Amino acid sequence: MAHDIVLKNGLVVTPNGVIRGGVAIEGEQIVAVGASPSLGQAKRTIDVGEKIIFPGTFDPHVHFGIADRFGDDAMTEDFLRDTKDCLIGGVTTIATTTLIGQEPLPQLFDQALQCGTGHSWCDFKITCVVNTLDQVADIPEVAHKGGVSYKFFTGYAGSQAEAFGMNPEGITPAFFHQACEQLARCGPPTFAKIHAEDPYVRGILIDRLRQTGRADQLTAWAESSPAWAESVQVYTYGLIANQLRVPLYPVHISAAHTVETVKQLRSQGLNVVGETVACFLNTTAPEMDAKGMGGKAKIQPPIRFATDRERLWQGLQEGSLSVVGTDSLTYSASFKTDGDFWDCRVGINLQVADTLPLMFNEGINTGRIDLVTLAKVLSENAAKLYGVYPKKGALTLGADADIVVIDPEKEAVLGVDRMRSRADYSLWEGRRVKGIPVMTFLRGGLVMENGEIVGQAPSGRFVGQVVQPRGL
Ligand SMILES: [Zn+2]
Repeated sequence: MAHDIVLKNGLVVTPNGVIRGGVAIEGEQIVAVGASPSLGQAKRTIDVGEKIIFPGTFDPHVHFGIADRFGDDAMTEDFLRDTKDCLIGGVTTIATTTLIGQEPLPQLFDQALQCGTGHSWCDFKITCVVNTLDQVADIPEVAHKGGVSYKFFTGYAGSQAEAFGMNPEGITPAFFHQACEQLARCGPPTFAKIHAEDPYVRGILIDRLRQTGRADQLTAWAESSPAWAESVQVYTYGLIANQLRVPLYPVHISAAHTVETVKQLRSQGLNVVGETVACFLNTTAPEMDAKGMGGKAKIQPPIRFATDRERLWQGLQEGSLSVVGTDSLTYSASFKTDGDFWDCRVGINLQVADTLPLMFNEGINTGRIDLVTLAKVLSENAAKLYGVYPKKGALTLGADADIVVIDPEKEAVLGVDRMRSRADYSLWEGRRVKGIPVMTFLRGGLVMENGEIVGQAPSGRFVGQVVQPRGL
């Protein structure tokens, strides 16, 4: 019997190594992985000619509906228009956050689900942002609906916390302890994400640095957030979560110091899964200053320095860090550059189109990382954490046929020209890279070819898995 599609004569990146050959697809699933002659006949055979057959990537850190505009309509539009960039970049699954507020968590979760359903070009999961103790009490109900990830803005206090709907003291250890009790009730795969960054010292330093009027704004911004401030929260909240047997996932680790902290906690057997984001791996604050990026590159925690960047790469290769996300929002250039740098809201714009080319160019082409590790940090580890492995995250028998074909010899100049979202600027404008996604398959369907969306309509789905919390 003929398969639907066979991709052959490539280098297949499997969890156990790189093999010469291809994959066979039937319907939405991978039905064979192996040497090309063993794959059999297909209705459509694609000779990929030495290109790399890589698992579709999973970006677990995206924020829709909370950038230039806020709300359900904005989130729906973000799904509809901006997930196209996911396909350009080989991203086949994302996790995006709920709207940020004090509404009941099940309501926020359902709203995000509705925004994505029928509108997303890639598969998606939803992370709940937890701001109040009432929302903490809602966690088991959401877990029962298929929500496994819960985000706590532990790095925010004062007016920044209040803007999100938290008390001014933010997410204290006591608050977080109560949240972890609820997560423990739910059991695996539910887990806690934190934005780690002591807010108090940072607040003082920001005021001080702002008054200096320095021209190297992004370097000053980097200095406002000391490395220890990130580490100290990973340590504190990591111990609390693990005491209650809840995995802790610190998002966007930015500092070399924190890599050491995560490494140390993991060596003691704590379940701490460290994420870093692509911009921290691919640039530095002085470089962004030299390019005059200003508010466009103002992210919290900050893009730091070359020593941090190198330690983050090393952390990925050695396994101290497990996941690469983007922390993408759908900002426009004017939103990030009109007004004073220090008043500009934090966050960078949509990065999903560029992550894989950047990681390939700066990771594979320089020898900082190998292909199997790249697949782990861009796909497999996030899928495992979210409880959807091996359906997602690997090129293996029975998995969803989420595949990106990378041409390792193809060069491109990054910038808005490549994007198919509403993005009107790129942090990477003019950067030449080698190693470009040329085909993306979502559950067996070819959805991107040579940088163009070829699917007719958004075919992304919510990827859920229901847990049964104790006592619910
Ligand atoms: Zn974020």
